[in-house]
Amino acid sequence: MKVLVINCGSSSLKYQVLDMDGEVLLAKGLVERIGMDGSVITHTKTGAEEKWVNETPMPTHKEAIQQVLDAVVDEDHGVLKSMSELGAVGHRVVHAGEAYSHSVVIDDQVMSVLEDCTELAPLHNPPNILGIQACKELMPTTPMVAVFDTAYHQTMPPESYIYALPYEYYEKYRVRRYGFHGTSHKYVAHRAAEMLGLDEKHLKVITCHLGNGASITAIKGGEVIDTSMGFTPLEGLVMGTRCGDIDPAIMTYVAEKENLDNDEIIDVMNKESGVLGISGISSDFRDIEAAAESGNERAQLAMKVFAHKVRFFIGAYIAEMNGVDAIVFTAGVGENDIGMRDIICDNLDNLGIHLDLIKNRVRGKEVIISASDSKVKILLIPTNEELMIARDTVWRVSLLD
Ligand code: ADP
Repeated sequence: MKVLVINCGSSSLKYQVLDMDGEVLLAKGLVERIGMDGSVITHTKTGAEEKWVNETPMPTHKEAIQQVLDAVVDEDHGVLKSMSELGAVGHRVVHAGEAYSHSVVIDDQVMSVLEDCTELAPLHNPPNILGIQACKELMPTTPMVAVFDTAYHQTMPPESYIYALPYEYYEKYRVRRYGFHGTSHKYVAHRAAEMLGLDEKHLKVITCHLGNGASITAIKGGEVIDTSMGFTPLEGLVMGTRCGDIDPAIMTYVAEKENLDNDEIIDVMNKESGVLGISGISSDFRDIEAAAESGNERAQLAMKVFAHKVRFFIGAYIAEMNGVDAIVFTAGVGENDIGMRDIICDNLDNLGIHLDLIKNRVRGKEVIISASDSKVKILLIPTNEELMIARDTVWRVSLLD
């Protein structure tokens, strides 16, 4: 089956076309500046020497999806003869609240759940919904599947997801921990079990998704038991620009000092904090590392604070699971930052964690990087959320037959 995977943001949209007989990527692309001047699609057919770029007006998501479909069936740079070759569309959707613990075929009931979850993900669910609506208009008979960032984490027990706030906030307003990046954590946890040749039902795994956004998840017997992001993606680890866990009282204290309203203080915590906030240099670890190497103390501190928090969660999750068999590093920093992996895994031998510093000198490849005497396996696994979405899409559509 050929599957189109759509990840729709407010002004941009990423897509991939995969042939799931063999899990081959046929084409991928990006639409930018939807609803603005200078809307542009950049399409890359696998194996093609050059990207195909077309700047054309796309006032809404419907025109953007139309451009994607035109590119996909184009005689020169397309990968399908016609749209009838497409078996299904898989949509990345951020939030499903407590409604779904797995992916679902999209129908009216699902659409109303997504609408209902908009207040929980006001920045993400609305563009996800627009992308689905545009696809439904343009491909009314093609099955569509929603794959949720929150779904994989729905197995968390209440002691992991209930905040110590008045319980009625959970009952009335759905205030609880949800977790995000679920598709990525699920993909790398499955791959880790495959790479180790073990059944994930018997494994305790900690997956570290360290990108610009970062989260860490504890998975026992194939089920998430805890994850670091919470009600929103702001909780947990220190990130590129997000602060992660802080004392909540800081918010009102700083808001008063700096004369900031609610939206402004939340903006500071989402966009001006994290390693950018500490270093004052950049949210990109490459810039921070370069500055740290040339002696910039705040850059050095930003790296130490980031690593400290990852180690903190690794320790907590080992305690929660009474051990760990495998630790996985993924996403931009996890896959590429050799020095950061060194710092995170340093001096954990009492916990049976022993990184091989030579094997660790690698970027963006599937490889086991623990020393041969390490009780805990350490794995580097590039994430592939699109493939996971396409797999789930095929699975759900196959159940329709
Ligand atoms: P997201 O999907 O959350 O936007 P990514 O997973 O793509 O983020 O990660 C992007 C981040 O990865 C960059 O901001 C940068 O900090 C980090 N990164 C990418 N390549 C490297 C590298 N070679 N060394 C260190 N950090 C890197």
